[in-house]
Amino acid sequence: MKKIAVFPGSFDPFTIGHEEIVKRGLSLFDEIIVAVGANALKKSYYSLATKKEMITKVFKNEPRITVDHYEGLTVDYCKKKGADYLLRGLRTSADFEFERAIAQINKALAPEVETVFLLTAPVHTPVNSTIVRDIIRSGGDASKFVPSAINLKDYIGEED
Ligand code: ADP
Repeated sequence: MKKIAVFPGSFDPFTIGHEEIVKRGLSLFDEIIVAVGANALKKSYYSLATKKEMITKVFKNEPRITVDHYEGLTVDYCKKKGADYLLRGLRTSADFEFERAIAQINKALAPEVETVFLLTAPVHTPVNSTIVRDIIRSGGDASKFVPSAINLKDYIGEED
């Protein structure tokens, strides 16, 4: 049976930290679905369509990675996709505490779905979407924190 993992997140925007986790996940899983959580209540900087376009560009040459979005519970989306694994990245102990609670609740909701954590490469520890957004909002150059396939200049003025 194919090992399918969902890598869920806000990806507002997708960073080099996210990219690294997905690429490393390819050695563990046959297919990875990068799934943008579409939460109507959570205000996001980039639109859902823009986020998906950015991520699609990053993995355009990797047929084992697909890009999608979902609403509702992450574990329900996993079941719909036949994915037995949830992939998440860990940077710090703060990430761990946050991720631990989510993973344990997800396990209670859907015992068949395993959450797998990969530790970030040390160089990516300080990279997070909030800081990248702040740089962009302030007119700075955040290009070194997003994958090279994403040209942030293409998306100026596209924020929600
Ligand atoms: P969420 O809103 O679900 O936390 P994010 O887009 O912030 O979505 O992150 C998605 C996943 O990627 C989370 O597991 C997060 O810990 C992980 N992640 C974010 N930045 C990095 C990074 N620099 N290195 C490794 N993992 C990261």
